Amino acid sequence: MNDMQKRTWAEISLPNIRHNYRAIRAALPKGCRFLGVVKADAYGHGALAVSKLLQDEGAEYLAVSCLDEALELRGGGITMPILILGHTPHEYTETLIDNDIMQTVSALAKAEEYSAAATALGKTLRIHIKLDTGMSRLGFLCAGDYFEGGVENVARSISLPGLETEGVYTHFAVSDAPGEENEAYTRAQFRLFTDLIAEVERRAAFRFPIRHCANSGAVLHYPEMALDMARPGLLLYGYGDDENKLGLRPCMRLVTTVSTIKHYEPGTSVSYGRRFVCQRRTRMGVLAIGYADGLPRILSNRCSFAAGEGFAPQCGSICMDMCMVDLTDRPEVHVGDEVEIFGERSDLNVLAEIAGTIPYELLCSVYKRVPRVYSA
Ligand SMILES: *Cc1c(COP(=O)(O)O)cnc(C)c1O
Repeated sequence: MNDMQKRTWAEISLPNIRHNYRAIRAALPKGCRFLGVVKADAYGHGALAVSKLLQDEGAEYLAVSCLDEALELRGGGITMPILILGHTPHEYTETLIDNDIMQTVSALAKAEEYSAAATALGKTLRIHIKLDTGMSRLGFLCAGDYFEGGVENVARSISLPGLETEGVYTHFAVSDAPGEENEAYTRAQFRLFTDLIAEVERRAAFRFPIRHCANSGAVLHYPEMALDMARPGLLLYGYGDDENKLGLRPCMRLVTTVSTIKHYEPGTSVSYGRRFVCQRRTRMGVLAIGYADGLPRILSNRCSFAAGEGFAPQCGSICMDMCMVDLTDRPEVHVGDEVEIFGERSDLNVLAEIAGTIPYELLCSVYKRVPRVYSA
């Protein structure tokens, strides 16, 4: 980052990502592969930088959401296996094959399209079969009355020409949520997953090389569900409902600077909508961060940020590019000083809760105009 532009930036700690990777890895059963989920620019941390680190560390696999994300990694020199979790139109089958990218197949009709495209090219597309065991999103239906049809459709998909099935997976809806009901739901999803696999393998005389289902929640709470590969995202970046169990560390610090400081008399209103009125003579700082940088406007008047030796309450509506903080009780903070929005001292979990969202959303919302600065 050009020092002259020092406005707002995200400090990414590669050592902390490495630490988290090793801590998660150590908690997995021996022989279990590690797939690092680096979709959405590695949850805002920079997909290429995180992927390079995982490649150097010896992780086995990466997953992204779409073809463009996969191509960015290939273009950046990543040679590890990459799985696309989302849909790719069959017109891109050749691009997938030529870049050695694996595609999720979530229905028989899609398997047939990819098969036709690959066969026409005289090439083979490597795929992972996705089962819908209760997330009700992508995947072959297989719950309840759909079980028979699910087995049938998966068995037909994996036998199509031009396709090579390397894995099978499913995704949990509540593996990160406490409570008996959630545990029962997760266990039922897992049972359906393994039952369907067993039935397909029996009928098709086939073995899926890699069975995987453990997202961050399952890595933490259901280690017995690791199977052949774990698939954590959020944990890698230091968050999760119980991340302290593994001693994980946050990897992103969102930092901004004080643009100016002014003194206002009591009764002075601040920002759009005049939603904050000074109750005392107030030393108000303007921060160079707004909702277009990824600081949700819903946090207006409801949060505080680490500044100087303490915290400064945010005042008035958060604007697109700026917001205000009360520095009256923080006389040690001056123009140009850094203020931490979240990271080490300001807890992202707390901000997410106030905003009525989850840490995932705040991490991926850090906008691209916010430069990422990596510490090695
Ligand atoms: C995003 C995603 C993950 C990672 O989830 P975390 O909760 O971040 O661990 C794993 N699997 C699939 C299919 C996903 O879409």
